[in-house]
Amino acid sequence: MAVTSPIITRIHLDRIVDCARAIKSQTRVELWPVIKADAYGLGARPVAETLKNVADGFCVFSLDEAIDIDLHRMTGKPVIALGPGNPARLAEYLAHGVRPVVCNIDQAAALREGQPILNVDTGMQRFACPADQIDAIIAAGTITEAMTHATTLGHVETLRRLTSGRSMKLHAAATALLHQPAAWLDAVRPGRALYERAVEVSARLVEVRPATGPVGYTGFKCERYGVFLGGYFNGLRTGPCTIGGRRCEVVEVGMQTSFVRLDEYADAAVGSEVILLGDDVPAVDVAQAWRCSVQEVLTQLVGRSCRTYV
Ligand SMILES: *Cc1c(COP(=O)(O)O)cnc(C)c1O
Repeated sequence: MAVTSPIITRIHLDRIVDCARAIKSQTRVELWPVIKADAYGLGARPVAETLKNVADGFCVFSLDEAIDIDLHRMTGKPVIALGPGNPARLAEYLAHGVRPVVCNIDQAAALREGQPILNVDTGMQRFACPADQIDAIIAAGTITEAMTHATTLGHVETLRRLTSGRSMKLHAAATALLHQPAAWLDAVRPGRALYERAVEVSARLVEVRPATGPVGYTGFKCERYGVFLGGYFNGLRTGPCTIGGRRCEVVEVGMQTSFVRLDEYADAAVGSEVILLGDDVPAVDVAQAWRCSVQEVLTQLVGRSCRTYV
């Protein structure tokens, strides 16, 4: 599907590396880039290849994501599978250099040889263990490292408190807590921060016309509009765009075609490039228009487009 998409994504791998280096020099702790979900649609293989000299290790969600791209052998780096550990697959964790994350005694005991990491519940209440089971799980898995999926400093503080006195390696911070030194602990696990400014998504106008009445399925009103190929099949929704550096609006999205209002922009012509995500159309603005997260914009739009690497 991706190769036939009329929506083109240029992925600036150098920006991902620059961002990773900046995070590392600011935090001075281990950097474990999260490349789950095909690196949020940007491509787990090229992203990991690019980051292998900056990263201390990589995070995926499932063991299979790591096996699919032979992540450990390709990068020479250790890997953590953040999703629920599978007690039946110890041999595969070991063979592929992937450490499981565990949150109960069964998982911890079955995966003990794979150096499991304890996931402590500090508020997310998902794939993580309650405070009163921490001791038993640590003992079952001879565990020396603990993490939590933190969204607030309070979550980080809870992790520290619940594991204090055990001299464990600890990590908690994803993108949302990167600006909070108290959240850095021994390692950070950013995903979104690495990717949100590294992509430019575009399409080209295939028609430009004056309107003769209400236009499209929704009957939107304008004086002049453009059409490009690509629609909700390609993950697109209505929202901001630019043409020739000027803000325009994607006013209607169909299955595989979309409409742009051109009233304010007389220079637009057939062949003009419509930027749907990029320096002048930041992912946060698109996410706001779509009423969703930046992560969702990236996986929806970039993940289904025709990707090129620069
Ligand atoms: C996805 C994920 C991250 C990265 O989140 P971002 O907000 O994209 O930085 C970090 N830790 C865990 C456990 C995750 O599931």
